[in-house]
Amino acid sequence: MLYIDGEWRGAASGSSFEVINPATGESIGDVADGTRQDAADAILAASGGFSGWSRFTAFERAEYLYRAYQLMMERKEALARLMTEEQGKPLKTARNEVQYAADFFLWYAEEAKRTYGDVLPAPRSDQRFLVIRQPVGVVAAITPWNYPVSMITRKVAPALAAGCSIVVKPAEQTPLCAMEVFNVIHDAGIPAGVANLIVTADPAPIGAEFVENPAVAKITFTGSTEVGTMLAGRAASQMKRLSLELGGHAPFIVFDDADPAYAAKGASLVKFLNTGQACISPNRIYVHKTIMEPFLAVLEERVSRLRAGNGLADDTSIGPLVDHAALEKVDHQVQDAVGHGARLHSGGHRLTDGGLDRGFFYAPTVLSGVTPEMEIYNNETFGPVAPVISFTDEVEVLALANRTTYGLAAYVYTQQLGRAMRMFEELNYGIIGVNDINPTAAAAPFGGMKHSGVGREGGREGIAEYLETKLGGFSV
Ligand code: ADP
Repeated sequence: MLYIDGEWRGAASGSSFEVINPATGESIGDVADGTRQDAADAILAASGGFSGWSRFTAFERAEYLYRAYQLMMERKEALARLMTEEQGKPLKTARNEVQYAADFFLWYAEEAKRTYGDVLPAPRSDQRFLVIRQPVGVVAAITPWNYPVSMITRKVAPALAAGCSIVVKPAEQTPLCAMEVFNVIHDAGIPAGVANLIVTADPAPIGAEFVENPAVAKITFTGSTEVGTMLAGRAASQMKRLSLELGGHAPFIVFDDADPAYAAKGASLVKFLNTGQACISPNRIYVHKTIMEPFLAVLEERVSRLRAGNGLADDTSIGPLVDHAALEKVDHQVQDAVGHGARLHSGGHRLTDGGLDRGFFYAPTVLSGVTPEMEIYNNETFGPVAPVISFTDEVEVLALANRTTYGLAAYVYTQQLGRAMRMFEELNYGIIGVNDINPTAAAAPFGGMKHSGVGREGGREGIAEYLETKLGGFSV
């Protein structure tokens, strides 16, 4: 169903599409297939919603966001189960995601009250300078399937806190989670038109309406660099504001002064999280030559203990890939690497036994001897494959790590303070984990450099993306 101007309704075309559970291949729902006309209606509703919402005080807007936070927490278990069924991640990690998602409502309920202005010294004695921050207007948001709840609240919460209204188009793989987020928004009493939802099986016409409709002031997108770049190019003709959170190709560097077992534990936890389907997932694991052996031994041992299966089962530690195309892409990268001489330590094939053939499961895979000739060295994998590369020298590994057009996340394991600081400063990435695999939170700015995007989500930076700065010069 679409949520437009405070009401649930079908698509203008009357058609619908199926949602598939990636663990079983079964249909778990049938949702309205929104059209470009629906997107135009939603933008019109958001324009209406903006005029009232932007005039609310920050305290009033915060009250609604607090309510949304509370409702999402009350519905945490149901939302997590739905996420597991629709997206595939194990229930425990789905619960973590709902918590992370709810945290954005809480954080921005508070941040709404901190969009301070400035009083500046003016050049003339009869002049005063005042700076205020105002909402940019109607926002159009496009979100991915890998974090189907938190990627929506990470945009909706700061947009609403800033006084903007919004239209959200979630990924076609995960419309049901998006609908539940909008049930929370509806039940929190957020006024009609302020937040609107278009679910669809065909994103291109909706994206076209977002970039071409002059009522949209800002586009915020999380997804592939390819689609993000295309949307940014088209949005430029109307000078729409942009926030883009795109692909990554994270290096994970383990120096010889690090504990190889601890680093291997970190690598296995972050690499296989969400079945490797995260833009901050390590894609090149650089390990110092002298500790390669113990590192690989622990990594292999941990990978051998991962249990693939339906995320609703208690003993499942790794879920399926999102669809068949993802399976093929991952397998292609692995076969290409092996064909070019990489050594396969574990995995390297689809999982089919015990009914797994009905879903899209790929065996957790470890490769060593990965080199720049291999596709996996250069392209984002988005799957459960750990490519390990040997290095000997700090200057060399820093250059290798930075030699990519991506710049989202990087990880460093070292016990030397100076080296940790050098890496923190010199890695050209927006997020650096130093002996840490989870440098994310609602309070922290998330985003990339270079082709990984523009802008930041979360933290005090996140609300600034939805505000214009206005200068007033007053003669007195
Ligand atoms: P992925 O490969 O991870 O699915 P995409 O960039 O294709 O990444 O998808 C991220 C989001 O972008 C999804 O919501 C998807 O529907 C949307 N999307 C994909 N193609 C287009 C398009 N041509 N116009 C607008 N949105 C698009």
